[in-house]
Amino acid sequence: MSLRIVVCVKYVPDATGDRHFADDLTVDREDVDGLLSELDEYAVEQALQIAENADDAEVTVLTVGPEDAKDALRKALSMGADKAVHVEDDDLHGTDAIGTSLVLAKAVEKTGYDLVVCGMASTDGTMGVLPALLSERLGVPQATLLSEISVEDGKVTGRRDGDAATEQLQAALPAVVSVTDQSGEARYPSFKGIMAAKKKPVQSLDLDDLDIDADEVGLEGSWTKVDDAAERPARTAGTIVKDEGEGAKQLAEFLAGQKFI
Ligand SMILES: Cc1cc2nc3c(=O)[nH]c(=O)nc-3n(C[C@H](O)[C@H](O)[C@H](O)COP(=O)(O)OP(=O)(O)OC[C@H]3O[C@@H](n4cnc5c(N)ncnc54)[C@H](O)[C@@H]3O)c2cc1C
Repeated sequence: MSLRIVVCVKYVPDATGDRHFADDLTVDREDVDGLLSELDEYAVEQALQIAENADDAEVTVLTVGPEDAKDALRKALSMGADKAVHVEDDDLHGTDAIGTSLVLAKAVEKTGYDLVVCGMASTDGTMGVLPALLSERLGVPQATLLSEISVEDGKVTGRRDGDAATEQLQAALPAVVSVTDQSGEARYPSFKGIMAAKKKPVQSLDLDDLDIDADEVGLEGSWTKVDDAAERPARTAGTIVKDEGEGAKQLAEFLAGQKFI
């Protein structure tokens, strides 16, 4: 039977762009270009490698995001994924991590899966919580932060490198995994891949399709609430210490003044 791999990919605001908050203190996603979260490219790469080593496998990329999030799906399809699922609904505006995990879980279940592959964190929210929330919702094992991963005999095996130890993890499928940026360079889409991606199926789903009530998501349904947010003040010019015999002393005084020493 075909190995069904679902890769969760997030469309994130370009970190090099000028980013702002909207009036309701959510990130203004209309005003800035976005792209496939770089850390999710590693997830797509590992999913493709697992599929290439399997007798029969299908890779579906899944995103929850606005209309433009299709760009992230197209990039993943051009890398080699077979099909895509895009969950889009106006009522999703302001959904927090708990709500996003509900939407992803329902979409994963609807798609059908043996293995869900996530990135280690998104490059905007960077919470790194989604894979754990997703496995809890799906009621399947999680093996997170893997730098090496393989699938054999109905099990996923991986290596997690920690500060104090390296762990070998194994979980029976179905399971959720996340992979780190140490798992191997992500491939660049080839010209052929980019052309082929235009013809690959992208299924659009909304909250109704997933049997999710609007009050379970969005700002109202979120467990977390942003009370206040302020843009970081512009950087001020640094202090230049000119060494005219007393440079080291001035440097030490500066560091002591900043409580670095
Ligand atoms: C249009 C839109 C509006 C949002 N508004 C808010 C808001 O106002 N307040 C708020 O708290 N949150 C909001 N979110 C949700 C938020 O951006 C995150 O998706 C969510 O909180 C998860 O946190 P994170 O990005 O830190 O994910 P992490 O836990 O760091 O992500 C880990 C992995 O989970 C997967 N993943 C994460 N998010 C998605 C996704 N959307 N689709 C597919 N895979 C994903 C990826 O594989 C990623 O590498 C919004 C999201 C969208 C798309």
